[in-house]
Amino acid sequence: MNAEILAVGSELLLGETVDTNSAYLARQLASIGIDLFRKSVVGDNEMRIAAAIDEALNRADLVICTGGLGPTVDDVTREAVARALQRPLVFHQHLLDQIEARFRAFGRSMPESNRRQAYVPEGARIVENPRGTAPAFIVEDARGTVVVLPGVPSEMRYLWENAILPYLRDERGETGVILVRTLHAVGLGESVIGERLADLMVQTNPTLGISAKRAQYELRIGAKASSRAAAETMIAQVEAVIRERLGSHLLGDERLDQTVARMLRERGKTLALYEGAVTAPLYRALSKEALESVRGVIMHPTDIPADDDAAQSLARTGAVDVRHRWRTDIGLALQPSGLIASDGFATVCMAIAHASGVDEWQRRFDMRSDDVWDFAGTMALDALRQHLVSA
Ligand code: AMP
Ligand code: MG
Repeated sequence: MNAEILAVGSELLLGETVDTNSAYLARQLASIGIDLFRKSVVGDNEMRIAAAIDEALNRADLVICTGGLGPTVDDVTREAVARALQRPLVFHQHLLDQIEARFRAFGRSMPESNRRQAYVPEGARIVENPRGTAPAFIVEDARGTVVVLPGVPSEMRYLWENAILPYLRDERGETGVILVRTLHAVGLGESVIGERLADLMVQTNPTLGISAKRAQYELRIGAKASSRAAAETMIAQVEAVIRERLGSHLLGDERLDQTVARMLRERGKTLALYEGAVTAPLYRALSKEALESVRGVIMHPTDIPADDDAAQSLARTGAVDVRHRWRTDIGLALQPSGLIASDGFATVCMAIAHASGVDEWQRRFDMRSDDVWDFAGTMALDALRQHLVSA
C-alpha cells in the first residue's frame, strides 16, 4: 500500500501554522511499512481540496486528509471529500447527539453551526471523536481509501492511535515496518560523499539519502521489511558498506560534538581554547558535555592579523599559550586572517598544541556566509577528533 497526505488549512499555506500533522503522520506510516510518496498542503477551498483528493487517488492507494472538519463555513473538507468521491453527505442523528452531549458536558448548548459535523459522505465508516466535536471518517472507494482526520494535533493523534492505526494494521493487514537509521559523517565534501555512495543512493530498498548540515552530513538509511529484525539486518549491511567507503569520516550514530565529548571523557583529556574570533566558534561547537573538559578560554579578537602568516602564527602561539596557562593536555586555537579577498574569502587558521608538538591547518572560508563560524567550528572540532583518535 502506498499513501499520500493532504493537509488542509489556509493558515498552513500562509506559513502561520507549521504543518506538524503531516510530519507525525509520515512517521506513523513508516512505522507500519506504508510507503509515503507525496505530502501536499491546500487551503480552505472546497474545489481545490476536492481536486487534490481526486489527483491523489490517481496515484495512491491511501489518502490521509487532516484539517478542515471544524464547524465554521471555511471548514469544507467534508464537502470536498463528498465531491471528489461523488457521494452525497448523509446526516447521522447519533453523531449530532454526541456533539450535543459534548457541549452539555461543558455546560453549554450546541451552536447551530456544529450541526454540519454530523454529516459524513455516504457509505463512510464513522470514527467517533471523544476528544472533540469533529468525527473522523474512512471511505473505502473503488479508487482507494480516504481517511479524514481533524486538524487539531492532539485530536488527530488520538484518533490515529486509537482508530486509524488499528484499522490499517488489523483490517488492512499493514504489518510491515520502514525503519530509519541516521548516521553522521564529517570532513568530506557533500559531492565526494555522494560520489562514493552513489550506487547505494539509487537503490530502492534499503534507501540512502544524504543531507548536509554545515560541514556535517546525515546519512539516512531506510529499510522496508516485514519485521523490525529484518529491517535492522538490511540497514546493518548498508552501514558496513558505508563504513568501508568513508573510513574514519563516518562517525556512526553520534554527531561530531557527541563523539568529541565522549573521546575527551574516555581519554581523560583536558582542553583550553584560544578564540581569535569574537563569535567564539570553538566554544560554540563544543557540546555542554565536552565543555566539562575545558579548563579555560582566551578571547582575543582584537588582535586582527594583517595576513595569513600572521594569523597562523597567532593561532600557533595561542594554542601553546592556553595549554600552558591552564596546564591542559590540549590547547585548541582558531584565528581568522584579517585579509579578506575581493571574492569575500579569507583564511582561517587553526592549531592544536599537545604534549608532542603543535599541529596546524588553514582553510579558506566565505566570510559573507551566515554559517561561516559554524563551518569553521566544525572543522576545528574534526581536527580535534582526529588528534584524539591518534592520542
Ligand atoms: P481545523 O481542523 O482545520 O479547524 O484546525 C484546527 C486547529 O488545528 C487549528 O488551530 C489549526 O491551526 C490546527 N491545525 C490544522 N491543521 C494542522 C496541521 N496540519 N498541522 C498542525 N496544526 C494544524
Ligand atoms: Mg482549518
